[in-house]
Amino acid sequence: MAAHCCSCSPSAPTAAKLFCYSASSQLLNHQISSSSYALPCGRIRPLERSSCERLAFCLAEGRSSKLGFSNPSLTAVRCEVGVSEPVLGDSQESLREGLSIFGQKSPRNASQEEDEGFNPMGGWMGEADSWREECGVVGIFGDEEASKLCYLALHALQHRGQEGAGIVTSDGGSMKAITGVGLVSEVFNQEKLGKLAGSSAIGHVRYATAGESALRNVQPFVAGYRFGSVAVAHNGNLVNYKELRARLEENGSIFNTSSDTEVVLHLIATSKARPFISRLVHACEQLEGAYSLVFLTEDKLVAVRDPYGFRPLVMGWRKNGALVFASETCALDLIEAEFEREVNPGEVVVMDKDGISSLCVMHRRQRKACIFEHIYFALPNSVVFGRSVYESRYRIGQILAEESPVDCDVVIAVPDSGMVAALGYAAKAGVPFQQGLIRSHYVGRTFIEPSQKIRDFGVKLKLAPVHHVLKGKRVVVVDDSIVRGTTSSKIVRLIKQAGATEVHMRIASPPITGSCYYGVDTPRKEELLSYRLNVEESREFIGADSLAFLPLERLRSMLGEEAPTFCDACFSGQYPVLARPAEVQGYPSPLSAENGSAIECKPVGAA
Ligand code: SF4
Repeated sequence: MAAHCCSCSPSAPTAAKLFCYSASSQLLNHQISSSSYALPCGRIRPLERSSCERLAFCLAEGRSSKLGFSNPSLTAVRCEVGVSEPVLGDSQESLREGLSIFGQKSPRNASQEEDEGFNPMGGWMGEADSWREECGVVGIFGDEEASKLCYLALHALQHRGQEGAGIVTSDGGSMKAITGVGLVSEVFNQEKLGKLAGSSAIGHVRYATAGESALRNVQPFVAGYRFGSVAVAHNGNLVNYKELRARLEENGSIFNTSSDTEVVLHLIATSKARPFISRLVHACEQLEGAYSLVFLTEDKLVAVRDPYGFRPLVMGWRKNGALVFASETCALDLIEAEFEREVNPGEVVVMDKDGISSLCVMHRRQRKACIFEHIYFALPNSVVFGRSVYESRYRIGQILAEESPVDCDVVIAVPDSGMVAALGYAAKAGVPFQQGLIRSHYVGRTFIEPSQKIRDFGVKLKLAPVHHVLKGKRVVVVDDSIVRGTTSSKIVRLIKQAGATEVHMRIASPPITGSCYYGVDTPRKEELLSYRLNVEESREFIGADSLAFLPLERLRSMLGEEAPTFCDACFSGQYPVLARPAEVQGYPSPLSAENGSAIECKPVGAA
């Protein structure tokens, strides 16, 4: 009798089939029909949908033989629970579906698979097939309306993260915090903002992930230590998080979250330096990787940017003298703060009742600002790293038209991030730009998954083709980037189904061949289309008539003499900081008792 893993149900196994595909998309003869499979340890596990998804991961990682499948050409697997034939007859279609199954989760997410489960929407909606920013931050000092201004500024930064939002305020004596899962407008209302008293505030929006435990990782984090309270909001990713956390835990620190940001609070609390700013600097000196941080204490607002300046952080002033920090200038614009300058890489800016001071205490390196902010993340109305995002994207579109011209009747964009580059392409090519795809703004994160047979409707719900624009036309479609290629293939199919005679894809970035370790949620490189396939193979995979990327050397020449001050590691493989990705399981958080509930943070000692 088969032994079962402790983690799997001993109930009757679900009937299931695995359909396996070769690299050339052929459905292999030896389909596997089984109700269970063997784990590497030899134990037998029943085959259910989530098992199939895990199995797909194993296959993608080349561990197929351990699971009993030894065919080296096996590259994809598709599971159908309770059916006897593939739902989609076309094997190429099925390969894409299979890839989207194993491609749903990054290694970081995969580490939380056991307790969080899969997001059934991720691959289906196509949302996982894009680079995703990990957060936006705001800080305000010296305005009685601090919480409301913070709310508005977070709203302006909503594109940087939609999973959760939080605000912490200080009235000079105590701090209050509200965090919640959802959009800024879902987490906060008048009543909640009214509870956030004080003239200083920090806020945070967080990127979208799956799982019910997301709330414990929603920032800002607040902690009390021997000399008071401190709150922190972070944009970026610490590459030495695992080491720091292990060291802190060895010395007795107890962690509440699975976020790398929490180590910063522990480093501050355990530092022997005095006063608070020295503690903070001492803590930041131990961090490696990307961090744009805002801190709030009872009487201070502090902004810090890592020595490489990977992620943006700007500062400005309101007319009443209130200081504002934000990830992008679009947040300053909304709350009528005048942009002053960027927080410099390695700089610590401190604001309190005595005024503003700046410390450049951390060893300064060559700046390595993330070029992807200009390609995809930032809003086109923002100025990021001293350059207009709109101008960058428009110029990139022009370069694409110079480098990869093609006879066409119309230029369209994949909205929204491909829009400005498409305008640049159309202007340079002298071809009309039209809106050939309409984006739905109402497909939320909680949209109910339809049945298996209509799952391909996902991309159609997000993007609707305009038949009048596309029918009988040779179409150039401009998108910002290709990650796994699954969404691109669906878009090409959508445009062809709408009657286009030719579809030429132009990508406003170089091929992505590596993961990011500096604050962007990315898949493993093995899942990236351009890591696996060359341009011609990629074209074939997405089904376009032609495919062209922005050449890396043209991107660098566009940046001119500033090119060495930008990170382009996900295209070039030239990583400025050694990548040491961490995977640490999370713990329940005292901040996650109730979504959107207010928490009072009383100082526990003298300031
Ligand atoms: S690796 Fe890519 S996404 Fe990450 S910081 Fe560098 S340019 Fe930006």
